[in-house]
Amino acid sequence: MENVGDLDLVVVGGGMAGVCGAIAAARLGCRVALVHDRPVLGGNSSSECRVWICGADHHGRTPDARETGILEELRGENQRRNEQESPWMWDAILWDAVTREPRLRLFLNARCYDAEMEKPGMIRAALAMQIGNEKRLRFQAPLFMDASGDGEFAFRAGADYRTGREARAEFNEDMAPEQPDAFTLGSSLLFTVKDMGRPVRFDPPAWARKFESDEDLPFRGHHTFQHPCNFWWIEWGGERDTIRDNEEIRDELLRILFGMWDHIKNHGDHKAENLALDWIGFVPAKRENRRFMGDHILTQSDLENQVLFEDRVSYGGWPIDLHPPKGIYHPGKPAEMKQVGLWSIPLRSLYSRNVENLFLGGRLISGTHVAHGSYRVMATGAAAGQSAGTAAAFCRKYGRTPREIGQHHISEIQQQLLRDDCYILGLRNEDPGDLARNAGVTASSTDSSAGVSPEAVINGIARGTHGNPNQWRSDPKQRMSQWIELDLGRESEIGLVQVAFDTALGRLWGAEPHPETVRDYSILADGRKIVTASGNNQRLRRHTFQGIRARRLRIEVTATNGDRCARIFEVRVHR
Ligand SMILES: Cc1cc2nc3c(=O)[nH]c(=O)nc-3n(C[C@H](O)[C@H](O)[C@H](O)COP(=O)(O)OP(=O)(O)OC[C@H]3O[C@@H](n4cnc5c(N)ncnc54)[C@H](O)[C@@H]3O)c2cc1C
Repeated sequence: MENVGDLDLVVVGGGMAGVCGAIAAARLGCRVALVHDRPVLGGNSSSECRVWICGADHHGRTPDARETGILEELRGENQRRNEQESPWMWDAILWDAVTREPRLRLFLNARCYDAEMEKPGMIRAALAMQIGNEKRLRFQAPLFMDASGDGEFAFRAGADYRTGREARAEFNEDMAPEQPDAFTLGSSLLFTVKDMGRPVRFDPPAWARKFESDEDLPFRGHHTFQHPCNFWWIEWGGERDTIRDNEEIRDELLRILFGMWDHIKNHGDHKAENLALDWIGFVPAKRENRRFMGDHILTQSDLENQVLFEDRVSYGGWPIDLHPPKGIYHPGKPAEMKQVGLWSIPLRSLYSRNVENLFLGGRLISGTHVAHGSYRVMATGAAAGQSAGTAAAFCRKYGRTPREIGQHHISEIQQQLLRDDCYILGLRNEDPGDLARNAGVTASSTDSSAGVSPEAVINGIARGTHGNPNQWRSDPKQRMSQWIELDLGRESEIGLVQVAFDTALGRLWGAEPHPETVRDYSILADGRKIVTASGNNQRLRRHTFQGIRARRLRIEVTATNGDRCARIFEVRVHR
């Protein structure tokens, strides 16, 4: 057994929640091990599964709702370096982001199979087996996070959990069944196709299922092939155990997938003569199994009533999206969706209620089956993962457990999250260390018609909310360059200038930068240029300095990615 020591936090599972949680904690000073059982990061979003990342903006339908923070940064990086939208490049971008963090150690192909306990309710170490090098690894640390989807580690540690669907009456959820049962959402295998430029035939294997007519695939659109996720409804296993029966579920999903492709090619006109199967998933993408219980269990009514928890550290907004347990064999619609708007996630749902040093991340956090129907999507998981990682850093700082840190330091955690460009409903920047908050702000011009103002960059809210743009936007009739200037009142030492640009939070990321995003800019300190940046597509830019003193800081925008206005949501200045 090889001991991996000198750790503050062990994160099990490198899906989007685990990746963002591990990076967040490492950036805030924790020595982190990220233990992941696949060769590539990203979980369901990886090249092995290819589920697209969705979140609170509901595919761009809810304005200004997209998750920011580390996920936004990763997506920006993906846009810059992966114009070709290669799934393997996305794997590489995640690998690069994780391995670039000096305090973060990545262990791929390492399956965490057990928890070594200090005493009941307190973990001493995580035990893993790494394939390829036949190593057995022991990770000792004061804090752990299970973000592995199924939660084998938390389960071995004895953390309380639920599976299946609660009865309607238990939490007063009208989307829950009358009686409780063991059913979950099913798993899926996705596929991609290739246009061969000439007709190609498809001979189904003998084991493929038969879908002879469109009536065999009711409500399941199968005419668009651009993205594998269009076939998310190739789903099965909800009446089985998506952990214990994983192998059988994969085999049945393969039968379904090939049968469905036989339907497309050989039964009816699906405009697919030239198409051939190209990539086929072999790792079942899972949706649901264990949900671990925290001090708060999120429920349908929390979401619908958009409860603003005192200890909120993140948010969701994907509709409650429930699927029939029979999956593809259900004759009705493959999903029932209910819009719930934006709702908050309390820190109390991000740690175990009975294992005192265990954080929870991703789809296994504390909630009912119905609430899970919304929070399970990956952008929500990534944002809440960043919050859990941030809370872990405060546990380290103050020597507290996850529960205690929520009870004693919640506003510090919330302020740190805002500073790291996360969004928390109804909270604004109150960071006493931010010199910009008391600055006088002027601008070269302002788009007065749009209700924007120079002062908006220090109003503490770094995105549009309820129709308020919360940004400075230059007059579109004026030519570039355009600037905004902060007068700090007196000469001060400047160690950091942080700017949040506009990356169109109401739209999806695409292959091209959003036109609204500032591309080229400089920062001037009392008229002296201290930053020159070009080719930007990112929302959050941080510039650090040593030995700079100034009273006036000007951000001068010389070009955007297409828009006529310079747009800035927020400027922060620290010593
Ligand atoms: C077909 C399909 C369509 C979906 N549609 C969407 C969608 O459009 N958008 C969206 O955002 N979400 C969608 N979802 C839901 C979403 O993919 C999952 O809920 C999400 O992946 C959960 O994220 P996670 O980080 O908790 O888990 P995962 O993405 O599963 O990541 C956890 C990782 O941990 C690893 N792991 C597991 N156990 C261990 C262990 N013991 N040791 C080490 N590593 C371990 C796993 O291999 C996995 O890679 C869909 C799901 C499916 C199946």
